[in-house]
Amino acid sequence: MRIRLLGTGTPTPSLRRQSSGYVIHIGAEVLVFDHGFGAHHRLLELGVKATDVTHLFFTHLHYDHCGDYGRMILTRWDQGAGEVGDLQVFGPAPLARMTEQLFGVGGVYESDLVARTSHGCSLGIYEARGGMLPRARPSPRAQELKLGDIVKQGDWSVEVGDARHFQPYLTTFAFRLKHQGVTFVYSGDSGPCPTMEEFARGADVLVHMCHYLSGTALNEPFAESCMGHMELARLAEAAKVQNLVLTHITEQFDKPGVRERVIGEMARVYSGNLFFGEDLMEIPVTRPGLAKLM
Ligand SMILES: [Zn+2]
Repeated sequence: MRIRLLGTGTPTPSLRRQSSGYVIHIGAEVLVFDHGFGAHHRLLELGVKATDVTHLFFTHLHYDHCGDYGRMILTRWDQGAGEVGDLQVFGPAPLARMTEQLFGVGGVYESDLVARTSHGCSLGIYEARGGMLPRARPSPRAQELKLGDIVKQGDWSVEVGDARHFQPYLTTFAFRLKHQGVTFVYSGDSGPCPTMEEFARGADVLVHMCHYLSGTALNEPFAESCMGHMELARLAEAAKVQNLVLTHITEQFDKPGVRERVIGEMARVYSGNLFFGEDLMEIPVTRPGLAKLM
């Protein structure tokens, strides 16, 4: 299992940190978890094409987690030229409605899709790429998930867990991916969630929202729906997580000295391996290795 971070930022515009996205390679399969604005650009920087992606999972439908959904589907469809199957997409309701409203007949991309499936120029390009006429529209297979569902494909599975975020307005999940004894857990966006400790127990890698310095929450709903660094350190220690990756990082952390303070304070509570997430970072499923000096 190869784990790389696409976007470690938030909705706040940033060139350094794009919005949420993670890519996991398992053999020939490529799983993407969340796809916020800019995450697709990072995917390209890693040399992964939309046509390589086989499964897309959304934790929730905040735009910083699904803003690049259109780019993924349209690019994959256009470049795939009928040679790659429709993407399998998983996430909470109303994923099916969103998918239909984006790509369905009369949807957001209707005029483009009509043009690209009708105009001679587009059809010529499509045939030059190896496509066979008539040209079909993209039809991603969107499957809405419920808490406790398990998506099982080949030798990996993804279990759907609870997260505490913007309910009841927005259903939000965490995901637990298992493959050959390796467990990857992604919190999605979550504040302190009563079931997360059990859900993340023993994870080789936990990628978790770390949104603010504990003690600086703006109000009670903020503290309930977003994660502070010390709450996260205590969670990861209690769950005996091997590698903890901080993500969904705000500009509050990206000031000289503050990151070091965060790491230092968390390391006094959490005894595993701590990774301060950066876009394009690869996370080992074992312990971090040392590079040779010479
Ligand atoms: Zn978010």
